[in-house]
Amino acid sequence: MGKKLMKRAAAVLLSAALLPSAATAYADAPAMTGDLNGDGSVNISDAVLLGSYLHGRMQFTREQFALSDINSDGSADSLDLAALRFIVAANSGRLPHGTWIASDDVSARYFWFDGEKGTVTDEETGAKKSFRISVDGDCFTFDYGDASEEARVSWLGSKAFNITWSDGRLETMRCYSDGPLNYDDLLTGQWIGSGTVNRVYDIKGVNGSYLDTGTNKGTSFRYEKDGNDLYFHTGRNAGTAHAVITPVDSVHIDLAWDDGTSERLTKHNVEQINGITYVNGILIANKTYDLPSTYNPGAILPEAQAAFNEMKAAAARDGLNLWICSGFRSYSYQRDLYNSYVNRDGKAKADTFSARPGHSEHQTGLAMDINMAGDVFNNTREAKWIAAHCAEYGFILRYPQGKQDITGYKYESWHVRYLGKPLAAEVTDSGLTLEEFLCIDSVYKY
Ligand SMILES: [Zn+2]
Repeated sequence: MGKKLMKRAAAVLLSAALLPSAATAYADAPAMTGDLNGDGSVNISDAVLLGSYLHGRMQFTREQFALSDINSDGSADSLDLAALRFIVAANSGRLPHGTWIASDDVSARYFWFDGEKGTVTDEETGAKKSFRISVDGDCFTFDYGDASEEARVSWLGSKAFNITWSDGRLETMRCYSDGPLNYDDLLTGQWIGSGTVNRVYDIKGVNGSYLDTGTNKGTSFRYEKDGNDLYFHTGRNAGTAHAVITPVDSVHIDLAWDDGTSERLTKHNVEQINGITYVNGILIANKTYDLPSTYNPGAILPEAQAAFNEMKAAAARDGLNLWICSGFRSYSYQRDLYNSYVNRDGKAKADTFSARPGHSEHQTGLAMDINMAGDVFNNTREAKWIAAHCAEYGFILRYPQGKQDITGYKYESWHVRYLGKPLAAEVTDSGLTLEEFLCIDSVYKY
């Protein structure tokens, strides 16, 4: 009989251990199976209570009866007592390993455990504290050097446990990753989502909010990222949503939610430094974002010039001669150029082919016109070679055909922008313009 009991108990334990992989284990659980005295922990005192009940020494409430049915066979009996004792014994003395997130309704903290010591990092302040940890049954002792604190632990499966601190505060700790916390791995920043749902996300650490741009409704959340699994907790009642993350490139990730919706997120970190706009670290000059008149590198930047020289040498091996017919253009040069076009053709027409001062990509020192800046260059062997090969040298064709509404400029087969090889390859492979790739627009705001 003992053997049979152990088998049942082991099956129960196994199912408890498997629980956390299901999204439900992350939901704000109400009462916990086995926690008969409602202290937030499943431990030996619950087993004592169940024993008293089974021996007729006490009455159970309806809720206690339900929580006692550990093997879910519809009754609270000696099998449940054996299963409960087994769970208590198996979890007794167990210590977490890796990075765990402790959260209650107001705050989140990261705990890193290596078995005997660790660190706790406050999400809001970033303050770190080291500790040594020891375990005695279901009691953890955190020794911070100058102070120590005891806490009682109740495992909710292999990847989550409740912890009740000496001041009575209850937190749920969930496994975040096997290794130390890597802040680069978090989704901190702003993201623009497009797909079945359209949202703008603002994420910091493990907290965030998103605005549904369709309904204009904002939602706050706390999330856990465990490898390519993403768990969103949106409050006590809304529960947990799970998505599988597929990284696309350095700027995009795809999310496939369990409800069948999917989104592509585009990183959207727009910074203004000394009046210069960087989107995800990429210097941008277009009709939306202008450069200050004081930004004046004086020439094509050395890295872009070296990349052009390399491209020119490669083209020469294919029997083609490439040269820069217009490279760096200063703010004042562009101002005079634009004004001369306005005088000749009018403002509306000039805006289709010439940038207003501050808005020319030529002022960046990262853009250049090759051989001939005019439609006669289209379809030449040189233009075709540039379109096919410029990404190999870190350039993109900045104003492709048919994208005038997006880039703000008509097709220019001669104008390339230096991005560096990895990014130029990503943009080219995406088939998108730089504006589409970064989810930005190019429209004069004045
Ligand atoms: Zn140009």
